[in-house]
Amino acid sequence: MENTHFDVIILGGGAAGLTAGIYLSRAKMKTLIINEGTAGGQMVLTHEIANYPGVESTGGYMLGSTMKKQATTFGAKIFNNTKIESLDLTSDIKTIELARKGKFTSDSFIIATGGRSRPLNVPSEDKLKGRGISYCATCDGDFFQDKEIIVVGGGNSALEEAVSLTKYASKVTVIHQFDHFQALEHYIDEAKANEKIEFIMESEIE
Ligand SMILES: Cc1cc2nc3c(=O)[nH]c(=O)nc-3n(C[C@H](O)[C@H](O)[C@H](O)COP(=O)(O)OP(=O)(O)OC[C@H]3O[C@@H](n4cnc5c(N)ncnc54)[C@H](O)[C@@H]3O)c2cc1C
Repeated sequence: MENTHFDVIILGGGAAGLTAGIYLSRAKMKTLIINEGTAGGQMVLTHEIANYPGVESTGGYMLGSTMKKQATTFGAKIFNNTKIESLDLTSDIKTIELARKGKFTSDSFIIATGGRSRPLNVPSEDKLKGRGISYCATCDGDFFQDKEIIVVGGGNSALEEAVSLTKYASKVTVIHQFDHFQALEHYIDEAKANEKIEFIMESEIE
């Protein structure tokens, strides 16, 4: 029990999970971070992060590694690339069982499993992630100063991001798989009113 019971178990080792881990372990809470992938989460997919307060520019992998080091230096334990066998959050004492590692319990449980972008599954998409293909306009728009950008999609996020990208891009082309947008009216109106935005709808794609 001594080594397998924690004050807090955090599921997810991205920016959110590692930040929680840093604060908790610094507050002397016995903390375990369980992460399915690489420490740093989505951060490690981007080659440059330029909007982290206090850090002018850093690589995503580097920032993720530094956060991981901070958490472990304060005493947090981290399991990366871990597969969960079972999870029980119904009792006061939470129980998680990990493949090849066994059972762990905690008084509190934080879920910080983040988000996943939906890939297009086109050739070279994986190779070009963070190098021309982005999934976050607010994060990466600034890297495409005076460039022509294609936005794929026609919902609220696509049209909102398309408008925000016109601050940087010379031209933004929105490619949508249907012949009508699924966004709210004001997003559609704003995008249509923007001279830098061009639309390609399904019927126009050969
Ligand atoms: C290409 C790209 C570039 C970006 N650039 C920037 C930028 O420049 N600036 C900026 O502010 N933001 C940027 N972002 C967004 C930023 O990366 C995210 O906002 C941030 O990573 C969210 O952190 P998170 O911890 O909530 O989730 P995530 O980073 O998604 O981390 C979640 C973690 O939980 C793990 N996980 C998921 N499910 C489970 C499970 N069942 N069990 C255990 N672990 C699990 C995942 O493997 C992952 O490690 C970018 C994102 C991408 C994809």
